[in-house]
Amino acid sequence: MQPGSTQSFSCVAPACHPTRSAACPLSKSLLSLLPVGLVVDRVAVAPDRVIIAVRARGAVASCPFCRRPSRHVHSRYLRRLGDLPWQGRIGQLDLQVRRFRCSAPECPRRVFAERLPAALPRVRRTTRLAEAQRHITFSAGGEAGARLASRLAMPVSGDTLLRLIRTAPLPAAPTPRVIGIDDWTWRRGQRYGTLVVDLERNRPVDMLPDRDAQTVGTWLNGHPGIDVVARDRAGAYADGVRSGAPGAVQVADRWRVT
Ligand SMILES: [Zn+2]
Repeated sequence: MQPGSTQSFSCVAPACHPTRSAACPLSKSLLSLLPVGLVVDRVAVAPDRVIIAVRARGAVASCPFCRRPSRHVHSRYLRRLGDLPWQGRIGQLDLQVRRFRCSAPECPRRVFAERLPAALPRVRRTTRLAEAQRHITFSAGGEAGARLASRLAMPVSGDTLLRLIRTAPLPAAPTPRVIGIDDWTWRRGQRYGTLVVDLERNRPVDMLPDRDAQTVGTWLNGHPGIDVVARDRAGAYADGVRSGAPGAVQVADRWRVT
């Protein structure tokens, strides 16, 4: 291969080109490494990157507005996504995205683009690359993380790294087993809510908008697995716990168990 040139491999796997009979070992091995639901059309090796042309495997996509499935392709466009490095080179997915027509007459969305788990809409990197770059940022910070990411063939700016961690989804907190509930004030003397605290981890879990039994009961109903509820002596809280977590032990103030 000449310096600076790009070497291409066309995938001839039956899944990609049903008219061809020969299976392509390259495609077969790549398929298992790519984000789920994608089919390889072509692989190109450039001096600084590996470019993989992919498209969605399925023939149907669901309208994001009305959820009705559609097979009617309206048009196609290309999304260029950064991906995890391949053999020390930048990974790039050239994803062919289809726009579908929504056939539901009552749906206001006439045309929609298919959504794929490989990447969120309107971003320029795969979900797995974003995850790797987040880890780098948490370890090294913004500017130092950008230098490290570039060295690891995942080039990105420091500003983008900081934005990635600001938008990172928070880990789901485990359901607490022992909680305390008590009132707290939105506005002293005028409006009160209820604070829920995980007493084993010693941290707040939620803030409820009022002190009503029904509100407390509904919250407990949505959080099964709570064994012990410490509360003050207010009758509303006792009623709420009885309705929302009838199997939980109620502890009224610090010393008394009812
Ligand atoms: Zn629709």
